[in-house]
Amino acid sequence: MKQVRDAFPIFRHHPELVYLDSAATAHKPDAVIDALSQFYAKDYATVHRAIYRSSMRATELYHEARETVRRFINADSVDEVVFTRNTTESIHLVSRTFDLKRGDEVLLSELEHHSNLVPWQMLAQEKGIVLKWIKVLDNGALDLSLPFSEKTKLVAITHVSNVTGTVTPIQEIVREARRVGAAVLVDGAQAAPHMSVDVQALDIDFYAFSGHKCYGPTGIGVLYGKRERLMAMPPLQGGGAMVDRVDFEKSTYQEPPLRFEAGTPMVGSAIGLMAALHFLLSVGLNRAAEWEHRLLSIATNRLESIDGCRIIGTAPGKGPIVTFTIDGVHPLDLAAWLDCQNIAIRTGHLCAQPLLRRFGCEAAARASFAVYNTEEDVERFIQAVQKGAGEILISR
Ligand SMILES: *Cc1c(COP(=O)(O)O)cnc(C)c1O
Repeated sequence: MKQVRDAFPIFRHHPELVYLDSAATAHKPDAVIDALSQFYAKDYATVHRAIYRSSMRATELYHEARETVRRFINADSVDEVVFTRNTTESIHLVSRTFDLKRGDEVLLSELEHHSNLVPWQMLAQEKGIVLKWIKVLDNGALDLSLPFSEKTKLVAITHVSNVTGTVTPIQEIVREARRVGAAVLVDGAQAAPHMSVDVQALDIDFYAFSGHKCYGPTGIGVLYGKRERLMAMPPLQGGGAMVDRVDFEKSTYQEPPLRFEAGTPMVGSAIGLMAALHFLLSVGLNRAAEWEHRLLSIATNRLESIDGCRIIGTAPGKGPIVTFTIDGVHPLDLAAWLDCQNIAIRTGHLCAQPLLRRFGCEAAARASFAVYNTEEDVERFIQAVQKGAGEILISR
């Protein structure tokens, strides 16, 4: 894995950096930065419309990026891959265009990130849809007494929690959803960078993830949607590229995915994402997961031995995330202390305020691991937490 780390220029520029916030966003390997730079320097043009070679080449690359995503999640067709800005926009798109009416029930879990919570709350207020909740147990696993009813039209659930690291049982949820004819949307923001995802094997209707958490550029995300689901959805934004025939009075629209990609798309970012996914596949998702879990288990064991440390989320087989609190130590003080040692962790509500409250706190600290982290990172992190917590306690 040393070679893998060496592929990330951030650590050449900042050799002292211990970066443990990859669950928020991941650093970029040379391959991604080079792909972006090469596209803008050598191949740049717009896509779709023009009849000159550089534009046709850019269109080809954009299509190749879509095909790379298709393969990455094993979608049946490139037409099922919609490029968006990020996970948030992918979920927003479904919430605005999936056919939901007053009284329809949408099932969420208590694990959800604000991105998969707020859009549904907005819809509940505007349209009168009803939100139902899958409960979370004390170890962070889901309570599998799933509150489905014949009114359930959609389940929107995270694949891996960004707080507890819980991997949710998508297959069981899909099985129950099928009984009542509900669609399943999976928030894959924390899963796509760390495990291989097969949307056909999971038999899900929608899958959302962000490029920037998969070592790709910001500003590019993916919404996978089953063909018949996307076909049934109207466009969200109107404009160029999403139309077929336009008259002064009215227009007809392209089929998916272009129907959902109004305006000039983020061609460069899509090409950067393609490079990121190739990079991830060349590392190997199984190898990456094995390494990250090794770091997670060392960190977890060491944190457990610190006085007053409580780990939030201990479900078996969890993703490479450890969220914790230390009695008497405010997470923000701890993070500021760690930052002085060049150690970056996440603190605060972790974009999941209701979930943290469920676990009895308003703020927590989180360390998350990625392919470029090392055992030395974990060691420096643990020693700094021990020392920092001690000093903060004394100074109070
Ligand atoms: C980061 C994250 C999101 C939101 O991703 P954006 O890239 O900010 O849109 C949604 N869900 C989970 C579980 C996340 O970790």
